[in-house]
Amino acid sequence: LETKEDELKKEQSLSELTRQSLLTHIDFGDAFRPFLELQNTIAKALESIILPSLDVENIFKNIAESLRPALELHNLIDNYFRENQQYITTMLAGFQKGVELYKDSAEKFKYIIVELGWPPTDILYPEELTTIVEEYSKHGCESIRKDVDAFFLNKFDLEEINLILERWESTKALKSRLPILQQAINAHLEGNYYLSVPALLPQIEGIIADGYAHYGRMNGKNLGQYFKVLLSDTDMLSFDIAALEFLSQYILVDFVHGLPPKSSLSRHAILHGADTNYGTATNSLKCILLLDYLQDSFGYVSIGNGNSYHLIGCPVVLNFKVKYRNKGWVVYKDKNSAHKSAKLPCKICKP
Ligand SMILES: [Zn+2]
Repeated sequence: LETKEDELKKEQSLSELTRQSLLTHIDFGDAFRPFLELQNTIAKALESIILPSLDVENIFKNIAESLRPALELHNLIDNYFRENQQYITTMLAGFQKGVELYKDSAEKFKYIIVELGWPPTDILYPEELTTIVEEYSKHGCESIRKDVDAFFLNKFDLEEINLILERWESTKALKSRLPILQQAINAHLEGNYYLSVPALLPQIEGIIADGYAHYGRMNGKNLGQYFKVLLSDTDMLSFDIAALEFLSQYILVDFVHGLPPKSSLSRHAILHGADTNYGTATNSLKCILLLDYLQDSFGYVSIGNGNSYHLIGCPVVLNFKVKYRNKGWVVYKDKNSAHKSAKLPCKICKP
């Protein structure tokens, strides 16, 4: 039924689609828009089937009609893949190579970023990450340090910082400390770094205590153990190892009064009043990024022998926390790991 012209048009749009996905490597968002639009068309057609009547003949007619674009698309894709096998194979090989290169950069990035004095963050684009790794390999750590600092301060502008705050505001587990976080972010955005840094630093221990339902005094050893458990994802694309290293090299270092601090962002030296030079934009941003990484590592928890997993702020969890303290408390980074442990989503907090 189709004219040659129509076919040509569709072929062109498909190759444009492939080209787009090649260019963007990882973000397929736009490339799949036509598919999403199709999905909407079908959903609308189905709606019209279910709502008006129970006229069987019409129902089948409507179903056939609603599936027509899907079948057309299916044939189109099928033909396209048949005719362009070699091109697609080359394209996929290129894509695979891109992924391998990114993995290699990500692995190096974990060590480089800590040496450069920054906590890891998942907010960087792949090309930003690979650029830092390339520049480091070409020029070495010291000659790019200032540029990397400038890059971070520039990237995490008002808009990006507000996005982080919005995420915090929608995280149940952070609810009780939101007024502190909001004021700390305000202070950061207004350049009051002597206020933002000491407001943010104690929140690190706070979210760990909340996340593991810790009861009683928390000493350095307890805290270290929690960090080790929380930041134990050894996946190639996880930055846990960098976060752990950043904590131990910069944040958790000890100090003595009367001697220069061993790190420019020592939690003890700053909060015990020994360090009086900590109020810098970079320090303040480092605290925000570290806190963001840590809070993001707490996904869900299961408690005792229960077969559900919950959001950390769930009433069931809060009740358990008081009654049974921290017995049988397991943290899952994401839903997948909770499912792997055969846990089901809680019906109250609906994670
Ligand atoms: Zn729950």
